[in-house]
Amino acid sequence: MQNFNHCILCYGSDFRIIHQKDQWQYLRCLECGLVCIHPKPSPQALMKDYQDYLTAKAEEVATWEMTMKPVVDKSADLIESRTKAGGGRLLDIGCGYGFFLHEMRSRGWQVEGIEISRPGRRYVRNRRDIHVHSEPLEDLSLHENSFDVVTLFYVIEHVLDPLRLLTEVKRILKPDGLVLLRWPHSTPIVRILGPMSRKLDLYHTPYHLYDFSPDTIKKLLLLSGFKEIETRIVGHTRPSKRLGRWASTVFGQLGEILYFLSGGNLLLPGISKTTLAFKASK
Ligand SMILES: [Zn+2]
Repeated sequence: MQNFNHCILCYGSDFRIIHQKDQWQYLRCLECGLVCIHPKPSPQALMKDYQDYLTAKAEEVATWEMTMKPVVDKSADLIESRTKAGGGRLLDIGCGYGFFLHEMRSRGWQVEGIEISRPGRRYVRNRRDIHVHSEPLEDLSLHENSFDVVTLFYVIEHVLDPLRLLTEVKRILKPDGLVLLRWPHSTPIVRILGPMSRKLDLYHTPYHLYDFSPDTIKKLLLLSGFKEIETRIVGHTRPSKRLGRWASTVFGQLGEILYFLSGGNLLLPGISKTTLAFKASK
């Protein structure tokens, strides 16, 4: 397939369709490997969908908190190992119910969040008493050089213009500020399973607008003005359903073990990754 548009990372224009559902196609750039949806949903449609993306049911929120707990704890440890002792200012973009913000505040950080989904925002404000913005970062005009850390858990794959978002993240970070991204890495599984992956719909069509790899996330961060980019496997979720939990634990732990045994060289494809990067001075 040619010339529908160009790739946002390498400006390549040769793509292969690797997944289809309804009117949506997922295209893999043959130059750099970035996967993107085609056509793109409109910003208005996305905003509308995300207003009520998160559930307001207390039971489901509690289950989700349990699921995310290992990732929250390990990500917090990782951030503290890379930043000055004693905390600082942290912004979590797409903070959901504020599980991560709550953990970081308990460790002495000054925290705030951005959440477009109303039920999430209400929960963070009322139950956690944490300041949360309702608009996308690009519309907020936050002060430049004002945050020590910005985090995005399962956000970057949902964003129409990830380059613009990360450029804005860079602007609001202090010199040498840290960004942490957690993102799904679905394409290797889609490619291995071929047509069998269609039913799984790992891209949650049309919610994931991109699917990154360690290489393409690095490219994205370099283009956005970051340095010292490092992708790791940091914990795994603990889903509540038994089979899901088993699979997550086995593959998650296998991923972590292989990562450590290989001295950080082997990143098991198909499981979520965490990427750290520092604001470059120029
Ligand atoms: Zn490309």
